[in-house]
Amino acid sequence: MHHQHHSSRRKFISNLGLAGLSLPFLSAEDLTDPLVSTQKNMNQHRKLGIALVGLGGYATGQLEPALLKTEHCYLAGIVTGTPSKIPVWKEKYKLSEKNIYSYDTYDQIKNNPDIDIIYVVLPNNMHAEYTIRGFEAGKHVICEKPMAITVLDCDRMIAASKKANKFLSVGYRLHFEPYNLEMVKLGTSKKYGEIKKISGGFGFKATPNQWRLQQKYAGGGPLMDLGIYAIQVMCYTTGMLPIAVTAQEGKKTDLQRFSEVEQSLSWQFEFPTGLIGSGSASYDDNMNFLKAEAVQGVFELTTAYNYNGLSGYTPAGPMSFPQVNQQARQLDAIALSIKNNKPSIVPGEMGRRDVKYLQAIYEAMRTGKRITIKAD
Ligand code: NAD
Repeated sequence: MHHQHHSSRRKFISNLGLAGLSLPFLSAEDLTDPLVSTQKNMNQHRKLGIALVGLGGYATGQLEPALLKTEHCYLAGIVTGTPSKIPVWKEKYKLSEKNIYSYDTYDQIKNNPDIDIIYVVLPNNMHAEYTIRGFEAGKHVICEKPMAITVLDCDRMIAASKKANKFLSVGYRLHFEPYNLEMVKLGTSKKYGEIKKISGGFGFKATPNQWRLQQKYAGGGPLMDLGIYAIQVMCYTTGMLPIAVTAQEGKKTDLQRFSEVEQSLSWQFEFPTGLIGSGSASYDDNMNFLKAEAVQGVFELTTAYNYNGLSGYTPAGPMSFPQVNQQARQLDAIALSIKNNKPSIVPGEMGRRDVKYLQAIYEAMRTGKRITIKAD
């Protein structure tokens, strides 16, 4: 009986020429037992519940609208220290009272089966604590970038993830963005030959009086917030990781706004082939680019890091890709990886690696020395 059902179904799929296409979430092994297949199928189609921790600018402006477009996850709960924010979220997402938490009641998420994933969208210095408490509550965690301020904190977060046997991912949205993915493809396939020079820069004018300008909360200035993108793009476009770095702080023209953190800085990554990657980050100048100069021509993004309106060029002409909701793609990809019991493509180890680079760049900036970067 089972066998007949199974083979006729497989035949049906292959007749349509849709094997692997119409059922992208079923592996070959799922098809061997109809019962397992049905159960897994149901699990695959259940949307995972996400709780946002911190309802600030990014959570409200980007993640919240994205969570209305996702297929594999939905907004199931919120954690906020500001009670006045609750009614509008509660109404819009039909959140039940029991899925609304304060920072004091946060740990009780442990007892809430509606929440599968905790998404930490707090100031940088709070990432480690809220991620670790999320794992202690037995949930998967997505943590915003930079993953933490120190490598030691990243280690603690990864250890907590392992102990809980739950996945840790970092909110690296550009891994799900077509223009950036095209740069990865062109760079790593050597479509225009070896890259001879690569540079990336991100900057904008930061408004005064915010946690981003306070060392204690941010762990640094534009490098922590924006430079991290230039680090990422240079690594994924070249397919290499840096082995050493030199760095220079930019001139402070606004001593009041930048009393605690750098106003701007630039750094030079040394890659294993000898390639130099020039990065820059600023809280005062506008910059938004990634440029790869290869033997047979330049390929580049002239708007590289925004939520939309990206642009780029190759020797063949302008790039043209559909507008996507980066956050919806990121959320769905991470939710799907969890459903498939696999780490995401933006795991905690990658977040830790980048925090290691951030710290090496600051050390190079402070000492004026070339700092070697260990592979660990
Ligand atoms: P924000 O200041 O707008 O929001 C921070 C939230 O944390 C607020 O709701 C605030 O009330 C809350 N909070 C709790 N305790 C706090 C405290 N002691 N001090 C200050 N705020 C406190 O910041 P944001 O822009 O939403 O950034 C939050 C995180 O998201 C940061 O780590 C940032 O790097 C990251 N982020 C990522 C992206 C991206 O594109 N991936 C974009 C923006 C921000």
